[in-house]
Amino acid sequence: MTLAHGRQYLAIPGPSVMPDRVLQAMHRAAPNIYTGELHDMVGGMIPDLRALARTRHNVAIYIANGHGAWDASLANTVNRGERVLVLATGRFGLGWGDAARGMGIETETLDFGKQSTIDPDQLSAALAAPGAGDYKAVLMVQTDTSTSVKNEVQAVRAALDAAGHPALLMVDCMASLGCDPFEMDDWGVDVMVAGCQKGLMTPPGLGFVFFNDRAAAQRETVQFVPRYWDWKPRADPQEFYQYFGGTAATHHAYGLRAALDMIGEEGLENVWSRHATLARAVWAAAEIWGADGPIRLNIADPALRAHSVTAFRTGMPYGRLLRDWVTENAGVTLGIGVGMNTPEDPRADGYFRIGHMGHVNAHMILGVLGVIEAGLIALDIPHGQGAVAAAAKVCAAHPAG
Ligand SMILES: *Cc1c(COP(=O)(O)O)cnc(C)c1O
Repeated sequence: MTLAHGRQYLAIPGPSVMPDRVLQAMHRAAPNIYTGELHDMVGGMIPDLRALARTRHNVAIYIANGHGAWDASLANTVNRGERVLVLATGRFGLGWGDAARGMGIETETLDFGKQSTIDPDQLSAALAAPGAGDYKAVLMVQTDTSTSVKNEVQAVRAALDAAGHPALLMVDCMASLGCDPFEMDDWGVDVMVAGCQKGLMTPPGLGFVFFNDRAAAQRETVQFVPRYWDWKPRADPQEFYQYFGGTAATHHAYGLRAALDMIGEEGLENVWSRHATLARAVWAAAEIWGADGPIRLNIADPALRAHSVTAFRTGMPYGRLLRDWVTENAGVTLGIGVGMNTPEDPRADGYFRIGHMGHVNAHMILGVLGVIEAGLIALDIPHGQGAVAAAAKVCAAHPAG
């Protein structure tokens, strides 16, 4: 017997919950790809995508997940044999660097571990080191979904400026776009990569690369850009098929259109503020659970925590037991501990994550926290009392809309 029957909630940090409105927009016969509504709709999404990234520059759309957007960003900016500097604060920073090595790009990695942010002093030292002048790009992740750290983009920009270093600043916003504040132009970001399946609430399948004029100029120094990954025709198509480098992602485009409408109707700042409050609700509960037991937030400093995902350390094997309990008994799937494996904990049994990105509201987050608390009780995992009430208080204090 189980209490899991009812609507399932995939509370992992991507793919995120898809709004019914997005799914319904996709549920249709194949549209005409030669002319008409689809053409207008795709063209009309470009300004909305730019507004989301806070840029007046270019965006290229790919039929790809985030890994595809990583490859696309590098294929347009760095030649084989050239060097990039990778700033890693978890699995995804490391992954982007690995994507670069797969393309024959040399990487230098500053690894800040699994519980901290980028240290600007170490970055400045690396930019001043012998040979550092030839870095073509600096790669960073705004929110590393594995650790749930949120890195300060402006601090990295400031270090590059202070060093007078010309490398492109490339930022992965897969887990933060449409969740946490991000200002591409104001923050001096040259290239930004994102996907549709997190804050943008659309099934996995579209990747985005935003790029400014500096990045467009660097594209001209790249000797071989695979046709499919070339961002030029996608960002400035002469023919409709060039938006997608071939057949359009017809149904994804309808889904994304609906998602962009929803974000537009709520207002991007309100979307950010909703995510901020829901994140604080999660943290409030976590801190109370942890006051009397093994539950800990992976990122100790609230200023460094993402608003879209929260990583928990529980000690072995409580993370796995809790994940299994809520799946079997409550219809909720929690995120696993990606990149947290150690020789002592090879399956990352001592971790779980809550995804709170995109189409999530107070009842979903309070529900997740409530079922985690039920799991803590059922599994006899020690925890402080009053966590869900503390989260409810945070929600109650959200400014009225
Ligand atoms: C999800 C994610 C990716 C990878 O996206 P996929 O769609 O799984 O390829 C990259 N970076 C970050 C920060 C992510 O959260």
